[in-house]
Amino acid sequence: MKEEMVQPIPVSEPLLDGNEAQYLSECIETGWISSEGPFVQQFEEHMAVKAGRQYGIAVSSGSAALDVAVSALRIGAGDEVILPTFTIISCAASIVRAGAQPVVVDCDPQTWNMDVSQIENKITASTKAILVVHIYGLPVDMDPVMQLAEKYGLFIIEDAAEAHGQTYKNRPCGSFGAISIFSFYPNKNITTGEGGMVVTDDENLAERCRSLRNLCFQKQQRFIHEEWGWNYRMSNIQAALGLAQMERLDQFVKRKRHIGQYYSRLLRGVDNIELPLMKTNYAENVYWVYGIVLKEEVAFDAKEAMRRLGEHKIGTRPFFWPMHEQPVMKKMGFFANESCPVAERIARRGFYIPASLVLTDVQMERVSQSLKEILK
Ligand SMILES: *Cc1c(COP(=O)(O)O)cnc(C)c1O
Repeated sequence: MKEEMVQPIPVSEPLLDGNEAQYLSECIETGWISSEGPFVQQFEEHMAVKAGRQYGIAVSSGSAALDVAVSALRIGAGDEVILPTFTIISCAASIVRAGAQPVVVDCDPQTWNMDVSQIENKITASTKAILVVHIYGLPVDMDPVMQLAEKYGLFIIEDAAEAHGQTYKNRPCGSFGAISIFSFYPNKNITTGEGGMVVTDDENLAERCRSLRNLCFQKQQRFIHEEWGWNYRMSNIQAALGLAQMERLDQFVKRKRHIGQYYSRLLRGVDNIELPLMKTNYAENVYWVYGIVLKEEVAFDAKEAMRRLGEHKIGTRPFFWPMHEQPVMKKMGFFANESCPVAERIARRGFYIPASLVLTDVQMERVSQSLKEILK
């Protein structure tokens, strides 16, 4: 191929060719652009139903949803929350900002999800909740986590930001525990540009979330506040996008699975990399992203692999960096002697390749070919 003919393949691109434009122009035509517009409630209702929940509370991001969820459960000073070390900073941030103590567990080397067999050892008298995060398209093994929560009287906060439309033993991700959250960032399975949602079955918790996202204005005396809240409201414009995206979620999930399975077929026989599991005994991967981990025999790390793929004009992203290795946490005195060897390894050896909904089979073939070349 001639250099100038090679088109870049971005790591992620949204697919917006359903009713998005129509619903957006409705916002303009009707003048409903703030969070007071009608799409917000419709989107909340649709998402709640899809997640098998009673209530949905739309917010401005997935990170905001985590803040609201932690705060709604009144988690604070003196409390400990167990979470995977291999996750996005938003999870730890919501715990630390609430004044609570994050306690991390390492991940499973195959699913990259939190190793649930390590949770019980971390439970103390101060543990208040387990924050589970479904990583990269495969759910956490929820049954043992639910049993622990029951046994020790802990809340479960479920981060389903990467798992819209995914199920665990046929039950929707987003339906587990006291409260669950979603993100609608453009690289997620469905997008609102920026956006997130909290879902729950508990009416009081839902009411509390609505208040927390709206500065804790009170119904009776609007400008008198009993508690700190945030302006984390979602606009009607974002919800318009979300509603149009929701209509195609099942189709999107099918497409994601096709992408993941096709990559796995194309990369079969490349011995020096680990690929995502196609399924476990409780779920089929939705491949939110398609992750790759370099085995020991590869002489370079993920950074170098990504640089080389960049030369082939292929977009990539590194894996998450473990929470217990975050400078911002170390500076606060957290995790002084923590060791999570699996997360530490995959953070350095792992990255993901383009896997968004607009990707064509031909593009996947090119990505796989480039991967094989750089790994030779
Ligand atoms: C993307 C993501 C978030 C944060 O969502 P934003 O909308 O980007 O704030 C939280 N948790 C997980 C697991 C995510 O992947």
